[in-house]
Amino acid sequence: MGRLGGRGPGAEKTIYRLKKLNSRHTWKGTIIHEAIAFLLKFLLTNETLDIEEFKKAVVDKMREQYKASLTGEYQANPKNNFGLLEHYYEEEIDDEAWQLLRDDVIRSIDSFIGSKFWEKAKTLSMDDCLALEGDLRGSENIWKNISPDLNTWKNLPSGPAADNFTVDGVKVWVKIDFAYPEDDGSIRVIDWKSGNSKNEPDPTQLNIYGYYASEVWDTPEDKIHLTAYNVNQDEPHKRTFNKEGKRQTREKILNSVENMKEMLAEKDANQAEEEDFPKEENDNFCRHCRYRQVCKPELVE
Ligand code: SF4
Repeated sequence: MGRLGGRGPGAEKTIYRLKKLNSRHTWKGTIIHEAIAFLLKFLLTNETLDIEEFKKAVVDKMREQYKASLTGEYQANPKNNFGLLEHYYEEEIDDEAWQLLRDDVIRSIDSFIGSKFWEKAKTLSMDDCLALEGDLRGSENIWKNISPDLNTWKNLPSGPAADNFTVDGVKVWVKIDFAYPEDDGSIRVIDWKSGNSKNEPDPTQLNIYGYYASEVWDTPEDKIHLTAYNVNQDEPHKRTFNKEGKRQTREKILNSVENMKEMLAEKDANQAEEEDFPKEENDNFCRHCRYRQVCKPELVE
């Protein structure tokens, strides 16, 4: 790792590299999301897939990415090469911790295949589907073009574009994992979770998806069912949207925008001053931050 701290001509490049790196936890989450989207894409296009073969392809891909990260090629070309933060910062992660990631991914695929969402998906076609991993009805992006062929999995491009809606002139971006109509005409919106906690996630993200569904899909609030399904823990958290939930979400979005604007030195020009953003004082927190090399180089010497 190059030890570049503070400011200087190379700092921008370093910050870009740090931004592109994956922590092992976000890597796991990305693989799980892509695996589910890939499985759904197969199912919705009426293709059959050997699930055991697919799981093997997923593990192979993880191994290839892990090895690619070890080569350090991302250092010169972070845009096109996979890199892990843990390798970059030479963190000591034992083999068992890496193997647990693989186990989490396989367990998540198994949970998903055993879930009622998979059963429901069997009754749907691609045309029924309102959203699949950011691929929203009417949009053009990669998931539409992925052929149902296991080789595609190996070179899966990550993340289709997010879509947006507007609240008082402010664009709010969403990337919905899966949404479909229920038999009674209502809509189910699902967000896959992959963490190790069984706790109910913060409802804000789901409520924002509910807001999107009510605005863009023109659906009455009480006909929007929201689910955060933790596939890693096989734990679904459900909530039903309503007018009050929409009002509160709107308020939350606008307050959040206002709070961010308050931090600007010049609101109209969208200009901030660095001095208005003091560094986190707790070094223990910073020891896990991807930007510590540039922001607090003394922690990585
Ligand atoms: S968390 Fe710490 S290291 Fe990371 S950007 Fe903030 S102050 Fe810097």
